[in-house]
Amino acid sequence: MPDYAKLCHAGTQAVTLASAVCREVQASLEQLKAITKDDKSPVTVADFASQAIVAKVLSDHLDEVILVGEEDSKFLRDPDHATHLTATLAAVQTVWPDATEESLLAAIDIGAGDTHHAGFWTLDPVDGTKGFLRNQQYAIALAYVERGTPTVGIMGCPNLPADFSKPLDQPDKHGCIYAAIKGDGVYAHATDQPGDKPIQVRRLDHTEGEPVSVCASVEKAHSNVSDTDNILEYLAKNGTPAAEPTRLDSQAKYAVTARGQADAYLRLPTRKGYVERIWDHAAGSLVATEAGCFVTDIHGNALDFSHGRGLEKNKGIVCAPPRVHGLVIGAIKDLGIGQDA
Ligand code: AMP
Ligand code: MG
Repeated sequence: MPDYAKLCHAGTQAVTLASAVCREVQASLEQLKAITKDDKSPVTVADFASQAIVAKVLSDHLDEVILVGEEDSKFLRDPDHATHLTATLAAVQTVWPDATEESLLAAIDIGAGDTHHAGFWTLDPVDGTKGFLRNQQYAIALAYVERGTPTVGIMGCPNLPADFSKPLDQPDKHGCIYAAIKGDGVYAHATDQPGDKPIQVRRLDHTEGEPVSVCASVEKAHSNVSDTDNILEYLAKNGTPAAEPTRLDSQAKYAVTARGQADAYLRLPTRKGYVERIWDHAAGSLVATEAGCFVTDIHGNALDFSHGRGLEKNKGIVCAPPRVHGLVIGAIKDLGIGQDA
């Protein structure tokens, strides 16, 4: 059996440093856009830098690292993208001072592992690209997956305030990191305070009659807005009123639901055939589960991470405390949502 505490410690170190690098890149957003003459380049640089740091730190701490990352080094190896390579190296060197172009590219390629192993890591180096570019919510999401189930999940949310009274669409100075081990709970600390004692995250179930607050994607292409509205209307008609959904990017939605700031995270398919990526859900789903939520697809089936890089056997996501989860799955069934998805 793996040493889960060791895996979680290595993963937390990796995500903490990757979060710091992403913050650095974000601080020079405008400068980077000007140098590379491309509005999307800051996220490209952050993606590569974050993957390199996570791979390097995991490799420093652990004997064997099989990493299935979202990125590979092809883009940066292209001489036409030399400016991006230079900018990525500068970002990485803020926490890995003796990195070179070669060691950086080699670290990114550690992420080219495949899923045909008893245990592997999966990483979304910058989840919520659009949120990153708007200086709103994004996440560095890392999980260890064994036989179809995440057993360790670490999520860095550098712009997520710990204080619920602060707006979610404004960047926070400290940010949050969530670290979960299956069966052992989930713990949070500030992104910039790795030495602080982590606090356990637990959420209470929803109380009958209380309004339900839902969170969903900002991007309308990522989750069906009219199906969400229909579910909320159905719940209201059946005695559970719901407010207008809070919209935020990335797996931070799992964290917000885990800590009780929202009562559900709904991700309803927008088009037939879209397969969710494992790195978009492995870390977040474990964080929410360990806090006391149920996380399934829209038909109530457990997420199955044993089919390569996609959740081939699942459709969409419903993450909520048990009572709300049951209500939402019931509403989906009664409304016939996702029958053709
Ligand atoms: P979010 O920030 O929650 O909207 O999710 C961002 C993630 O959505 C990205 O990492 C993509 O992998 C994923 N994505 C891209 N296209 C779709 C789609 N059509 N449906 C659902 N998710 C998508
Ligand atoms: Mg993503």
